[in-house]
Amino acid sequence: MTSAPGTSADVVVIGAGFAGLAAARDLRDAGRSVLVLEGRDRLGGRTWRRPFASTNQPIEMGGTWVAPQYQPWVAEEMRRYGLRLAEHALMPSRFVWRFDGAITPGFPLSGQELYELERALYRIIEAAHRIDVERPRDLQALADLDVSVEQFLRAEPMSRRTYEFLSAFGSLGSGAASDEWSALTALSLIAASDRSAYAWFAAVVDKLEGGTQSLLDALVEDGDPVLETSARVTHVRQDEGAVTVTCEDGRTYSAGAAIVTAPVNVWRDIAFDPPLSDAKAALARDGHPNRMGKVWALVEGVPEDAMGFGPGNDLLFVAPQYRVGDAVLIVGFSSPPCLLDVTDGAAVGEAVRAYFPGARVAAVDAHDWVADPFARGGWLTYRPGQATRLMSAVQEPDTRVCFAGADIANGWIGWIDGALESGRRAAGQALSIANQNHGGS
Ligand SMILES: Cc1cc2nc3c(=O)[nH]c(=O)nc-3n(C[C@H](O)[C@H](O)[C@H](O)COP(=O)(O)OP(=O)(O)OC[C@H]3O[C@@H](n4cnc5c(N)ncnc54)[C@H](O)[C@@H]3O)c2cc1C
Repeated sequence: MTSAPGTSADVVVIGAGFAGLAAARDLRDAGRSVLVLEGRDRLGGRTWRRPFASTNQPIEMGGTWVAPQYQPWVAEEMRRYGLRLAEHALMPSRFVWRFDGAITPGFPLSGQELYELERALYRIIEAAHRIDVERPRDLQALADLDVSVEQFLRAEPMSRRTYEFLSAFGSLGSGAASDEWSALTALSLIAASDRSAYAWFAAVVDKLEGGTQSLLDALVEDGDPVLETSARVTHVRQDEGAVTVTCEDGRTYSAGAAIVTAPVNVWRDIAFDPPLSDAKAALARDGHPNRMGKVWALVEGVPEDAMGFGPGNDLLFVAPQYRVGDAVLIVGFSSPPCLLDVTDGAAVGEAVRAYFPGARVAAVDAHDWVADPFARGGWLTYRPGQATRLMSAVQEPDTRVCFAGADIANGWIGWIDGALESGRRAAGQALSIANQNHGGS
């Protein structure tokens, strides 16, 4: 469905990722009219399922893996729409570790380093137990944990290798260097993984059958929102009676309330009148540091059962995902401080050969989320100090304008589950505003 410019709706939702579509569905369930404005010419936001290069193999350029055993909002949508987890096409079962510039036989830490690892994991798990993932972090006494990952790890003496091992696992979850992001984000995700540091990495390995598209399709079909694509919102103005939203091409829409689901890193591109409240303005100004590069490569000459991992490598992690003819389609991640240009096929080939020296890379496919004007980065990982200063305030509406998105979730901050959680919370907020507009109906 489309709608004529100037049309009024009870609520206008900005952004058609999981947060926006879940909010739209809930509002329609509550009997409200909803208009969704999406800047891109496609839905899904930071998830994007499409075929790999010139093959028929669908791949996910962005968000992919779910863990319904730990992710209540994903689990609820799966139940509602009868969605299932996909069979694993390939499931790597062993690591190729590359440490200090060389492939190491066996686990890369040994001797004293293993004691250090044990002590660090104890501290990490103990700290994760202090976090209530259902409440904003500024409402809990957690300021001592809201320091950089580097500062948190270095609080105990630790060898360089143990530090690099732990910090690299962190960077795989954050797309940021250890001095850029808060240990509280990592600890929150560990808390959300039932307080298991290993589960945060090892349990989030499942994909939905049909990929993220299956949940996207279900939300669109069920919510049946009035939807405008290629509708990039540039202005959000509110007065006593309504919110007026203007798109880049001049189209203007009005509603009783709005929900902004655009990623935090693009808030600064939207002119809010009146301006964003203080906490949101601060988050918009400083943004988040996630610059994760995700790349797919069609490779011959690699084992189907091994994943590569190692600090200091241009690809921090690589894992086989699908068999395509005689080749293997692998996914790789690159994170600061060793950030690779994932669109540079030759560089990606070199980085794959660091783990699998015989690899022959036939084709590479990636999307640059940092250069993408509708994302300007990966998923949110808080900078030190942000969550314990701002978190509850950024979740609150600015009068008639509500905010949602994985970036400002409580539980799986930055993940699909968090997008669903916060979209549904914002729908509730917008519903209260709409009810007031209708004199409490
Ligand atoms: C490389 C990568 C890998 C990831 N891996 C995983 C994973 O394995 N598992 C997982 O759970 N999560 C993963 N994530 C995170 C997950 O994809 C996101 O957290 C989630 O999809 C965010 O949903 P959202 O609705 O909050 O935001 P988005 O999906 O970003 O949706 C916001 C929407 O707003 C639109 N928009 C922005 N500005 C405007 C504007 N001015 N006007 C109109 N529309 C606008 C955007 O185009 C977008 O469609 C990954 C993300 C990336 C980038």
